[in-house]
Amino acid sequence: MTSVRRNPLTGDPILFAPERAARPHAFGDEEDDARCPFCAGHEEDTPPEILRVGNPWRVRVVPNKYPPIAGAEVIIESPRHDAQFDNPEIVHVYAQRHRAHADAAYVALFKNEGARAGSSIAHVHSQLIPLPFVPPRIEHERAAFANACPLCEAQPNVIRETRAFTWFAPHASSMAYQQWIVPKRHAASIGELHDAELDELATLLRDASRAMRSLSDAYNWMFVNTPHFYIDLFPRMTTLAGLELGTGTFVEIIDPAAAAERFRS
Ligand SMILES: [Zn+2]
Ligand SMILES: [Zn+2]
Repeated sequence: MTSVRRNPLTGDPILFAPERAARPHAFGDEEDDARCPFCAGHEEDTPPEILRVGNPWRVRVVPNKYPPIAGAEVIIESPRHDAQFDNPEIVHVYAQRHRAHADAAYVALFKNEGARAGSSIAHVHSQLIPLPFVPPRIEHERAAFANACPLCEAQPNVIRETRAFTWFAPHASSMAYQQWIVPKRHAASIGELHDAELDELATLLRDASRAMRSLSDAYNWMFVNTPHFYIDLFPRMTTLAGLELGTGTFVEIIDPAAAAERFRS
């Protein structure tokens, strides 16, 4: 059974889930040619589905077979094994499943694409994990909104501006080619977005996915639910090492202005 343990010094929570050691590739070994549980025709390989879009299906949501905590879900984004993120319906499913977990203290919604980004199954998918606590990173960031909203201000290094969103490279990026996508409206989560906004976001995520795959075979995006939410995205090109893991201090080797320039072209 999963439980929450606390670091005795910081009080920061750890999800203790020893069952996940049994999951395929739990220790980062290479993916093999084993039967893919996310492919069309293999539906019985996953736990019973929570949601499906289309018949035959185009998107499926299923419980995580090896959940880090109860309620964890996997969003399978295509029936095709070799597909990439490109169906706008996925972003509507993100919003719908986010709303379905309104009772969680925090909803972690993210994509790990490629083994270097932490994915254990190559078939395109995202994850949603309802947490019984507000994670330390989020508490830390939420404090920045106490007086004014830093995300309602104009941003530097803009890659693209649409009616409802700004896609840009943050001035103090911590990862090479890091980008943020911020709604112009002061919305606290994807669950608050309207259908037209979700369609616009889907186009931005599709283009960001293509741009990041031109740089690396692996990337992450994470929905960060501060009072004004944003999406944090980066290709995985460098490894976190002693300085980053030991001090939380990052060394940026790509100028965010140059990163934005590259993504614009
Ligand atoms: Zn597959
Ligand atoms: Zn704001």
